[in-house]
Amino acid sequence: MRRRAALHVCCAPDATVPWPALREEGYDVAGFFYGSNIHPMREWLARAEAARKLAGALSVECEAGPYEPDAWFDLTRGYESAPEGGGRCARCFRAQLMAAAEFAAKRGAGFLCTTLTISPHKNPAVINEIGESCAASLGLVWINRVWRKGGGYKLSVARSRKMNLYRQNYCGCLYSTRRAEEPAAHASY
Ligand code: SF4
Repeated sequence: MRRRAALHVCCAPDATVPWPALREEGYDVAGFFYGSNIHPMREWLARAEAARKLAGALSVECEAGPYEPDAWFDLTRGYESAPEGGGRCARCFRAQLMAAAEFAAKRGAGFLCTTLTISPHKNPAVINEIGESCAASLGLVWINRVWRKGGGYKLSVARSRKMNLYRQNYCGCLYSTRRAEEPAAHASY
């Protein structure tokens, strides 16, 4: 019998590797797209639509969480100037992964994972530690993975290009849009 899992989907391109991989490992995987951190709303709509498109191509279920940017701004107040990878991101990861854990528990899934560790811009150890604590708080098993390993990130870029999925050039929040304005920014965040 296949094990039921929920996959936290931060964006469609990042999910192109973890989603099929978990299915190949024998999980029945429902996606949960979270985006209250994403600014502005038209960006959230573009990313939610890309997640829906990927789910359709993979013939899997994917639910989008509610868009509640005010709650996210409250949560990260005081960390506006923190660098990427600092205290704001830790709070943001917890919000994303707790919402995904709640989705998993509601769906009756016993396992939880995230696409976030495919990013070369994020610390996978921090993400896995936070994910494990969110999962454990609801009695779920955390699937600890570093998806960027073994060429995972490059593969996600290639797959998302092939599928013509929308791909952003900044992490997501208002504060990370500054990076998109840097000369070195590229369209494969
Ligand atoms: S940079 Fe990314 S992870 Fe960090 S707070 Fe902004 S959206 Fe969240």
